[in-house]
Amino acid sequence: MRYQLLPSTIDEDGRASARQHLLTVVVDDRVAKDAGCLALSCSDAQRAQIRDIVLTHTHLDHIAGLPLFIDDLFGSLTEPITIHATVDMIRALERDIFNWTIYPRFAELRNSHGPVVEYREFEEGTSFQVKHLSMKSISVNHKVSANGYLVSDGKASFAVTGDTAETDDFWATCRAAADLKAVLVECAFPDEMADLAKASFHLTPSKLATELEKLGERDFPVYVINIKPMYRAQVVQQLTAAKLDGVEVLEIGRVYEI
Ligand SMILES: [Zn+2]
Repeated sequence: MRYQLLPSTIDEDGRASARQHLLTVVVDDRVAKDAGCLALSCSDAQRAQIRDIVLTHTHLDHIAGLPLFIDDLFGSLTEPITIHATVDMIRALERDIFNWTIYPRFAELRNSHGPVVEYREFEEGTSFQVKHLSMKSISVNHKVSANGYLVSDGKASFAVTGDTAETDDFWATCRAAADLKAVLVECAFPDEMADLAKASFHLTPSKLATELEKLGERDFPVYVINIKPMYRAQVVQQLTAAKLDGVEVLEIGRVYEI
């Protein structure tokens, strides 16, 4: 199984930058976890193949590319884009995004092949199948209802927190997964912004160190994602200083294979 954190910004030379404003992790070029930058930086192969998008929550940095992705593909879709989400997320998308004011209500529209969008609802804490992948949703601790996932192709699995503050179920699920090969965990703010991290339900390097104790002994890497771009250097410096064993920052754009 391959996973890739898509870039969301470019540097002054026009190349993908490490600054991560928007979140999308693509699995095997076919399934997207979140759609923050999906329309903006996916490859042509990914654009041609991705028809399933699994959301962690509806904050803008996780859905900003969703309306644009559907818009982009509208005329060419021969099957609908399936949005896997909880009922609360679906309500928020229909009320606040696909409301004809911000963007068209695509769920009401059809192209010459049929509907262009369908919602597939899941309940937090349940497992469901998306193409060849099994996704186990895990309720995490964020300002709005939000999910992490254990993603498995039947041979190996990786887990991704989504946005979260301190949490327990996620780590318990990781400990119970025998074929776990990697964990992607958020760490949005540096330690000196602990108050804002607390108010917005995110982690800092110190909090991450405490969280990782819940994971216990492990023989796989932990990759940090979702670092606020303005504080990236501070967060990376603090993670390095903490000397957390087997913890590194996920390289944006790189394809990881497990
Ligand atoms: Zn969020």
